[in-house]
Amino acid sequence: MSETRVHRRERGGWAAAWMVLAGLAAGLGSSIPAGVAAQDLPTVVILSTGGTIASVYDDAAGGFAPALTGEQLVQAVPGLDTIARVEVVQVANVASTNMTPALWLAVSAAARDMLARPDVAGVVVTHGTDTLEETAYFLDLTVGSDKPAIVVGAQRAASEPDADGPGNLRDAILTAIAPASRGMGTLVVLNGEIHAAREVTKTHTLNVDTFKSPGFGALGFVEPDGVRYYRAPLRRQHLEVAPGARLGRVEIVTNYAGADGRVVRGVLAQGGLDGLVVEASGVGNLASDLFDALEEVRAAGIPVVITTRVHTGRTLPLYAGRGSGVTLREIGCVFADNLPPHKARVLLLAALQRTSDPAEIQAIFAR
Ligand code: ASP
Repeated sequence: MSETRVHRRERGGWAAAWMVLAGLAAGLGSSIPAGVAAQDLPTVVILSTGGTIASVYDDAAGGFAPALTGEQLVQAVPGLDTIARVEVVQVANVASTNMTPALWLAVSAAARDMLARPDVAGVVVTHGTDTLEETAYFLDLTVGSDKPAIVVGAQRAASEPDADGPGNLRDAILTAIAPASRGMGTLVVLNGEIHAAREVTKTHTLNVDTFKSPGFGALGFVEPDGVRYYRAPLRRQHLEVAPGARLGRVEIVTNYAGADGRVVRGVLAQGGLDGLVVEASGVGNLASDLFDALEEVRAAGIPVVITTRVHTGRTLPLYAGRGSGVTLREIGCVFADNLPPHKARVLLLAALQRTSDPAEIQAIFAR
């Protein structure tokens, strides 16, 4: 393990090194040419939140749990002191199943603040993989900087002999300082692949080759000679969400054979519901009994967004009959395009800061 200095709040001077790196942009070099002083390296801020990348085996508990700080993660990356000046902000240290909308807001605010600094080239968020794509999409919607925010995790805990965290973190930092990453929004980097936040999803519970963009593929790759892109994300938008905002209550329900709407009625009866995301089947169709319950939600003026449990493709009012897409449109449901339920919930939470009008929400989902 090589010694890596963690620079705190040091400013200025990265632009010169960045220009040197820009000269290598066609295949960005992963090491700095001789003559580039440490103070001229680009600055990257790590926002550390926990997850497997920060986990070690806990004998007493009998499993892996987040324990390492962001600074410890940085220290495990070989050769980092020739790539970037790194600062660390510890935002949280949780399994990502315990990420919350309040924590999304904290990460987003920290990312915005850091990216607003002229000396910062990009931020890297270390995160558990289970809900990584939700945080990444929230950041993509809310950070609003031309500079990149990279979200990175690991499938093997830091205490494992084949830990993938240090390599992934190095790739993420290389992606954060690559000039070609500008304007790409929030990116997810694992296993040498760079994915768009809106498209990426975890596809395997254990394999290190897990984050994919089904139907689209990676935007680019981190290769031995640097970062290389092949395409850019088109479906990005910015939604202003104030750091102190109260994100509402949006639940997700699923359609399945025999779904009778009991779960929906239970959620509605509890009160305080701001929106509902439905994981429909196929192109966006539901059991008729579930539809009856959704009519009650719509009658209460609550926005309902239709997604699908199918992994690729969009939802569309195509079929007729009670519970079909056509009837869902008739009662004012919003169609989520190709967003999966958990990302449709992220977009709905952000959209609800602006409006609860289904037509306006539909326009936001269509962007
Ligand atoms: N349970 C972990 C988490 O999401 C899984 C991981 O990081 O890969 O925090």
